[in-house]
Amino acid sequence: MEYEAVIGLETHVQLKTKSKMWCGCANAFGSEPNTNVCPVCLGMPGVLPVPNDEALRLTVLTGYLLNCEIPRFAKFDRKSYFYPDASKNYQLTQFDKPSTANGFVDFEFSGLGSVEGMGRVRITRAHLEEDVGKNSHLERFSGVDFNRAGVPLLEIVSEPDITGSDMAYEYLNALKDILIHGGVSDCDMEKGMVRCDVNVSVRPVGTRELGAKIEIKNMNSFSGVRRALDYEIPRQIAAVKRGDKLIQSTRRWDDVAGITEEMRTKEHAHDYRYFPDPDLMPLAPTEAWLAEVKSRVVELPLARKRRFMQAYQLPAPDAESFVNDVPLGNYFEAMAGLSKSPKAVANWVINNLRAKIAEANTRDAAEQMSMGIEPGEVKRLTLTDLKFKPEALLELVGLVEAKAISNAAAQQVFGEMFDTGKAPAAIVQEKGLAQVSDTGAIETFCDEAIAANPAPVADYKAGKVAALNSLKGQVMKLSKGKANPALVGEILERKLKA
Ligand code: ADP
Ligand code: MG
Ligand code: ZN
Repeated sequence: MEYEAVIGLETHVQLKTKSKMWCGCANAFGSEPNTNVCPVCLGMPGVLPVPNDEALRLTVLTGYLLNCEIPRFAKFDRKSYFYPDASKNYQLTQFDKPSTANGFVDFEFSGLGSVEGMGRVRITRAHLEEDVGKNSHLERFSGVDFNRAGVPLLEIVSEPDITGSDMAYEYLNALKDILIHGGVSDCDMEKGMVRCDVNVSVRPVGTRELGAKIEIKNMNSFSGVRRALDYEIPRQIAAVKRGDKLIQSTRRWDDVAGITEEMRTKEHAHDYRYFPDPDLMPLAPTEAWLAEVKSRVVELPLARKRRFMQAYQLPAPDAESFVNDVPLGNYFEAMAGLSKSPKAVANWVINNLRAKIAEANTRDAAEQMSMGIEPGEVKRLTLTDLKFKPEALLELVGLVEAKAISNAAAQQVFGEMFDTGKAPAAIVQEKGLAQVSDTGAIETFCDEAIAANPAPVADYKAGKVAALNSLKGQVMKLSKGKANPALVGEILERKLKA
C-alpha cells in the first residue's frame, strides 16, 4: 500500500506595531532584557489590558490579504497554562470567535498537489493573540526576558491541504511575501518574527480519513520546516508499514541531529480551560472601520509579478525584482508606459540604476561610519534622492535604441547623469560620444585597420573567422569607441571578401 502525507501549518507572525498589544511598551527587538516592560506586560495582578487598535487593523487587513471572511463579531479568550515566560498564567487569544476565517493563499508551485503550476492552501483562520517572554538558560542561572511578552502575534492556521515538504516551503514563502507587502509584519526570521508549528500525518493514498496528527513545535526557519518534514514523513510511513499504530503526539525537531523526537503524547495534552476574557469587550467592527482597513489592501506579490510580465513583456526574474523591491518597480512602471521598449528600460533600472544606488550606498555608508555615525543612523540614497529625472533615463534608453550612442557610451552617460543630473543629450554632446553611423568615416577607419594589421587579415582570409574580432577592435579604437559596431562588422567583412 502507498501512503501520502497530510500537512497543516500554524504560523505565528509578530505584527508590525509601534507598541505592544495591551500596553504602551515598545514592540522592539534587541533592547536590553526587561527594559520594554510595565505592570501590564509583566502580568501583574489587577492590571487592565487596553487593545492596540493598529494590531486589530493589521489582523483584519491580513484577513483581506488572505481572502478571508471578516466576522462582525470576535472576542478574546484566556488560554490557561503555567509557564515561566507567561507570568499571567494565561495567554490572551481568540478561541472560537476569531477576527478572520475561511480564506486561501495561491502560490506558484509545480509539485505534488499543484494544478497548472499553482498551489492553493486554504486558511482556516487568522486570529490575534500575544507573544510570551523568552527564557534563557545561562551558565549558572536561568532568566526570563519580558520584552517580547505582549507583542501582538497573529496565528495563521491552514487547512491540512499541504501534500509535502516543498509545498510547505513554497506556501510559507508566499505567506511571508504577502505579509511583508501588506505591511503587516517585517517577517524577519533572524529576529524570530515568524515561527511555525507543523502538523503532519500519513494515510493510504486514495483514502479521505486523516491519520493521527503529529505536531512538530516551534520551527523558526522555513528550510528547517522542509528538512523536518523530509525526515518525519518517511518516518511515519515506515512506522505504519511496519504495522505500528501512530498516536497523536508532539515532537521537536533537532536540526543538528536531523531528527524529530517525541516530547509528549495526547495523554499528556493540555486542557487550556478557555473562557472569554472578562476585561475585554468583544469586537464588533463597523462598516466604516472595515472600509478604512480595506483601503490599505495592496496588490498581492503574485498578481504584481504577473501584471509586470504581461503588461511589459518582462521575463519572470525581472518581474520578481520589481515585486521584491516595490519602490523600484513603481519607478520602472512610471516610465515603462512611456517607452516603446519597456524591457530595455527594465534592464537599465535593474542592472544599472539599482547597482549604482547600491554602490553609492556602500561608499557613503563607509564614509559616514568613518565619521562616527552609527550604522543604524546612516543616511541612505533612495530613488527620491536621484539627481536626474526618470524622463532622462527614458531619453538615454531612447538614444541607445536609436543607435545614436553605443552601449559603452551609454554607460558613461549614465554615470555622469547619476553624478551630476545633467541631461543625456548634453553629456553626449559635451563628451563627443555620438555613435558614428556615417559609413564614409567607418570605411576610412576600416581601410586603416586592414592596412595596419596584415596578420589578422591573412588569418581571416585563410578561414579563421574569429580574426575579424581583432580587426573590429582596431576600428573601434580608431573611432575612439564611437563607431556603430554592427556597421563596422558589415563593412570589414565586405572589404575582406572583396
Ligand atoms: P489543535 O486544536 O490541536 O491545534 P486543529 O484541529 O486546530 O488542532 O489543527 C491544527 C492544525 O493541524 C491545522 O493547521 C490543521 O490543518 C492541522 N491538522 C489537523 N488534523 C491534522 C491531521 N490529521 N494531519 C495533519 N494536519 C492536521
Ligand atoms: Mg495546535
Ligand atoms: Zn508593557
